[in-house]
Amino acid sequence: MTQEEKARKNAALAIVIPCYNEEEVLPETIKQMSRLLDDMRESGLIDDGSGVWFVDDGSSDKTWDLITEATINNKYINGIKLSRNKGHQNALLAGLETAEGDVLISVDADLQDDITVMKQMMTQYHAGYDVVYGVRKARELDTRFKRITAEGYYRVIQKLGVDVVFNHADFRLMSRRAIEALKQHEEVNLFLRGMVPAIGFPSTNVEYDRAERFAGESKYPLKKMLALAADGVTSFSALPLRFIALLGLFIFLFSFGFSTWVLWVRLFTDNAIPGWASSVLPMYFLGGIQLLSIGVLGEYVAKTYMETKKRPRYIIDKTILNKESGFKTMPAGSIEIDKVSS
Ligand code: UDP
Ligand code: MG
Repeated sequence: MTQEEKARKNAALAIVIPCYNEEEVLPETIKQMSRLLDDMRESGLIDDGSGVWFVDDGSSDKTWDLITEATINNKYINGIKLSRNKGHQNALLAGLETAEGDVLISVDADLQDDITVMKQMMTQYHAGYDVVYGVRKARELDTRFKRITAEGYYRVIQKLGVDVVFNHADFRLMSRRAIEALKQHEEVNLFLRGMVPAIGFPSTNVEYDRAERFAGESKYPLKKMLALAADGVTSFSALPLRFIALLGLFIFLFSFGFSTWVLWVRLFTDNAIPGWASSVLPMYFLGGIQLLSIGVLGEYVAKTYMETKKRPRYIIDKTILNKESGFKTMPAGSIEIDKVSS
């Protein structure tokens, strides 16, 4: 065994779970996670110091209380509380940047993803992969609408030149060096599904069936989903901008031909020039295209604006580190809560 293989075999795993108003599923998630960690330790897949990092994304229900309680009663559990709701991608990044461990796996709190697949992910990590993507086998349980729009979206975004893994959400394993590479990305508009493939490093997929949410409701309403979808395109592809230019060229060529025809009719025939429709319709048509194009430009300008401000992507309110799980250093900018006195 080489030095590296040995290090990979003795890796501490940190599971990172963003939670937004998840009081209904958390007790079950905590139970299943600890069982899985026990199991993986027994079978030698992970080492001491493995644990779970829950990131409370500014929940307004009992989520943080449940996490705090778990850190006291359960040796695996650590908690990070964000100062306010920042959205799934930011919460996930907060967890990935804060959690310690030689290898990290991110997963949703609602147990929709088959968490036992983490064993296969670890096996792939031992085999030398730095990134392991969890890929959904089928989407039978999704609504027709969600399935068609989601799969259509993956296709479109791939056509636009964005490197994403088909049917992979944010259930993935990343090695320490992949995490360090991710940390070098300073963008504010986060689309982790696009950023991770852009890092490089050896990667592979494991497939799994996705279940229904264990309890509670989706925290991804259509509005948030559309925002994420737009981020995926505009953060990784400038094709929409180029498309505007192409559209302009196309319309220019068309109007050139059209004008030639109008001139020809005027000069060489006796036909009256068609009046109203032919002047009003292009007006609306061009007006519409212009507004749409300005809108697309605006999207990119807005993105640039947000990026130049370089505001923090999340602010940590407090962190509870479970000493028993072996994590001793404090992440920068966080406060350690004394478990006994709080
Ligand atoms: N989530 C979050 N912040 C938000 C919205 C969602 O941290 O603002 C978390 C949520 O708690 C869950 C994960 O992101 O762990 C995925 O959300 P959800 O399961 O509701 O999305 P869906 O599976 O319905 O797309
Ligand atoms: Mg879900």
